[in-house]
Amino acid sequence: MVTRLVLVLGDQLSEGLSALRAADKARDVVVMAEVADEAGYVPHHPKKIAFVFSAMRKFAAELRAAGWDVRYGRLDDRATGASVCAELLRRGEEVGATEVLATEPGEWRLIEALRACPLPVTLQPDDRFLCSHADFEAWAAGRKALRLEYFYREMRKTTGLLMEGDHPAGGQWNFDHDNRKPAPGAVDFDGPMRFAPDAVTREVLDMVADRFGDNFGDLEDFWFATDRAQARRALAHWVAGGLPKYGDYQDAMVTGERFLWHGVISMYVNAGLLGPMEVCAAVEQAWRDGRAPLNAAEGFIRQVIGWREYVRGIYFLEGPDYTARNALGQTRDLPPVYWGGETGMRCMAEAVGQTRTEAYAHHIQRLMVTGNFALLAGVDPAQVHEWYLAVYADAYEWVEAPNVIGMSQFADGGIIASKPYVSSGNYINKMSDYCKGCAYSVTKKTGQGACPFNLLYWHFMDRHRDRFAGNPRMAQMYRTWDRMDADKREVILSEAEQVLARLDAGEVV
Ligand SMILES: Cc1cc2nc3c(=O)[nH]c(=O)nc-3n(C[C@H](O)[C@H](O)[C@H](O)COP(=O)(O)OP(=O)(O)OC[C@H]3O[C@@H](n4cnc5c(N)ncnc54)[C@H](O)[C@@H]3O)c2cc1C
Ligand code: SF4
Repeated sequence: MVTRLVLVLGDQLSEGLSALRAADKARDVVVMAEVADEAGYVPHHPKKIAFVFSAMRKFAAELRAAGWDVRYGRLDDRATGASVCAELLRRGEEVGATEVLATEPGEWRLIEALRACPLPVTLQPDDRFLCSHADFEAWAAGRKALRLEYFYREMRKTTGLLMEGDHPAGGQWNFDHDNRKPAPGAVDFDGPMRFAPDAVTREVLDMVADRFGDNFGDLEDFWFATDRAQARRALAHWVAGGLPKYGDYQDAMVTGERFLWHGVISMYVNAGLLGPMEVCAAVEQAWRDGRAPLNAAEGFIRQVIGWREYVRGIYFLEGPDYTARNALGQTRDLPPVYWGGETGMRCMAEAVGQTRTEAYAHHIQRLMVTGNFALLAGVDPAQVHEWYLAVYADAYEWVEAPNVIGMSQFADGGIIASKPYVSSGNYINKMSDYCKGCAYSVTKKTGQGACPFNLLYWHFMDRHRDRFAGNPRMAQMYRTWDRMDADKREVILSEAEQVLARLDAGEVV
């Protein structure tokens, strides 16, 4: 019997991985490696690199304990190949293997690299996801618009989550309207469970500090779970303490409160330490036991079996050119504020600041603060995409790109979003307390100290009028704009131009 290599990537840390299931412990060899190409193709946040490498090392140890022959290539071992393919070739020679079993990577770039590898690679479907490519294609076929809501209802029926017979629990599929409460005064949840780094993690932290210390992001105070047992404890901790108010305040933002009642588990699910059904089952059970309200359980389950599966479906349906799309033709460089440059905008300082310290920001911070600003300011979506891919611990292209290129930047021309997610400062003021401590005034539409979001919002609407004026969901805003005094419109546009010129000149905004 010939030995085969079984490739396990850094986001495939699941015992039941399809490639492992297809392999034979008695004759096949598992290959895992911290390759330089993957660690460096965008300037990943040091906490993200530390999380992935530490979780990989611990998963390799678990596989060994379960009887697998694991060949693990460390980044600080000179013999380790620089790319996944180079490492496979090296290990193939070492053990006399000429073929590879792998689970389909979540990124076109890697799928293409494996296809181009001189060793034949058999790709197994990644069935840790709940919706296969074939099922998503069948759902999408013949539909004019691929809207989340209809996909989500199908997923509720398929999974049986929050169902009472054929009907949704509580008589409603979606409780989103209950989940938009603004920032509360105090947060009564102590946040995600924190884990002191063990010996494996400490060794990784030293290496990451040494090699990636100059990347944007703080490595100090590393607290993430790095194995399945810890991730399960983190999940239980959040279900008990965070879930009950998760729904109500899902969209709220509070100065200094980095996590509010959010799960902060996406990095664990995306790396494979937790399964999507497992996290949803825990949440559903809490609701059935009366430990959490339905709007919280439904809100969470919709994100996981709805949004998470839906964006993956879109990523693979749309193909490898998706990340290069730029439907609105936006070309500005990403301003330095995204890399921690000085700013008077409190909302941006908060969202970027906690991204720097935690490699985390919650959905509304990503969508309505940093995403909104980039879209309003006309930033090149490819640069926005690279930023999000680099700075968040949960960022892998299959999930990050549809959220950024599609949902946040409208660069796919409206496949995911039926209208662009743009807002003036008003929305941020309603959902947060940021504006209170800002150098700008959210109530000022023009003049000294006017909130840049207020100015840029109308500039965006005006410059993309041809595309959006016919969109019924935007008609009201164009009517408001058209009713404004012509002089006032001119002042807004010219002040917005000044803000953009300051961004272009690298000045503080
Ligand atoms: C511009 C932008 C970029 C994003 N980039 C990523 C990314 O790189 N990786 C990533 O996992 N999520 C991304 N998201 C989605 C979302 O912001 C994160 O999943 C969420 O903030 C993770 O934090 P949490 O675990 O506390 O989530 P919670 O608020 O507790 O949500 C529960 C879970 O639902 C899932 N989820 C929620 N929303 C989405 C979504 N839109 N798409 C996919 N899954 C979702 C996540 O697994 C998350 O853990 C992005 C959203 C935006 C607007
Ligand atoms: S005033 Fe404008 S820039 Fe300042 S925090 Fe509010 S929305 Fe952000």
